[in-house]
Amino acid sequence: MEAIPGNLTIIPRDQHNISRKSISKSALKVLYRLTGSGYRACLVGGGVRDLLLKKQPKDFDIATDGTPEQVRALFKNSRIIGRRFRLVHIRFGREIIEVATFRSHHADSPRTELNAEGRILRDNTFGDIEDDALRRDFTANALYYDIENYSILDYTHGLADIESRSLRLIGKASTRYQEDPVRMLRAVRFAAKLDFEIEQETSRAIFECGYLLRDIPAARLFDETLKLFHSGSATRVFELLRHYDLLQYLFPALDELLRKEPVEAMLDFIDQALVNTDARVNSDQHVSPAFIFAVLLWPPVHQQAIALQSEQLKLIPALSQAGSEVMSRQLKHIAIPRRFSQMARDIWIAQPKFERTKGKQTNRLIAHPWFRAAYDFMCIQSMVGLVPAKLCRWWTDFQQTHPVHNQQHASREPRRNRPAR
Ligand code: ATP
Ligand code: MG
Repeated sequence: MEAIPGNLTIIPRDQHNISRKSISKSALKVLYRLTGSGYRACLVGGGVRDLLLKKQPKDFDIATDGTPEQVRALFKNSRIIGRRFRLVHIRFGREIIEVATFRSHHADSPRTELNAEGRILRDNTFGDIEDDALRRDFTANALYYDIENYSILDYTHGLADIESRSLRLIGKASTRYQEDPVRMLRAVRFAAKLDFEIEQETSRAIFECGYLLRDIPAARLFDETLKLFHSGSATRVFELLRHYDLLQYLFPALDELLRKEPVEAMLDFIDQALVNTDARVNSDQHVSPAFIFAVLLWPPVHQQAIALQSEQLKLIPALSQAGSEVMSRQLKHIAIPRRFSQMARDIWIAQPKFERTKGKQTNRLIAHPWFRAAYDFMCIQSMVGLVPAKLCRWWTDFQQTHPVHNQQHASREPRRNRPAR
């Protein structure tokens, strides 16, 4: 390793394990075309981090000194996106390679915009590669793989943190959370997904800064919530959100209920549903966003439906009304698109219908597009004793004898075991 003044450590090709074979062909094409046109180009962020951890990266992000317009001009399959951060997306079939221009974070630049609390509203001030490294969130996310000579550039001691599995914010933790409170949710997600320890100050400042999540637009919280719960480590994510007292900013009704009376059966239900989601994500099976929202809002919906029944409403109308009320309060925090919020309500209202195992109703139920998710939901309830186990068995058998209706949602009982993390 070569230590260079100004905090840069260069790890040459023969001293790290990243091989071009594990980088997507499209990402390599973009890197080579950029350098061939005279720009600097590096792989950066999660792609480098995951390759060093010998994990398959979810996507490949590239950083360059070319401006978005210059990059756009090199690739006809590209377009400029974003306002807060302007980026270029280059499309290769189903794969999108994201190219960002090196940026610096100078609060006094006219192209950087902060609000009164120091939150970044716009950040389009270009800078050099070192500036770019320092404005990133965690040291593990700030490593560059330089396509010029296949070395790794480390400006923040990220490699040492990856080796010791430590998640550390670059710079002063509370300031970095003030600039962008979503970094607290990213800390939880990466700690859970990568099985990293959150470094002491990075961790402590979450308790101090959590309330800043109140100001984050509901649309961004929807994206981030899905990333958290579809990370393949949702059970750990949920534990960490509770540990850091962050659940209240995402799911206030659930948080309030768990504070008042942490009903064991409901906690078991959530845990089992998250185990199931993790197993599906980790074996590349489809997971619907509706399922997660149906699960995490079920305790308050269930409780409210019981209250409404005691006011003489029948079960299905009570569930329907409770579902609408809980969902409309939830939408103030997380902008759940209508198709998912509607499907979550369908899942809830379907629950009592599973109790009817005679007559034509059964064929009608199984034909719904949400049947599979509602059936999984019911079986998970049965696993924790919230509905009789025989119902799950009955519907599992029923699907086997009625496969015609059921091509897409082939029967499979939810897995019991915790997936290896
Ligand atoms: P993954 O794609 O596996 O979820 P990632 O680390 O690639 O993880 P992205 O959201 O794709 O995460 O972002 C790419 C990189 O951009 C990050 O690694 C980090 O360097 C930087 N980044 C993303 N979001 C932020 C943020 N809110 N603040 C600072 N830097 C960020
Ligand atoms: Mg990424």
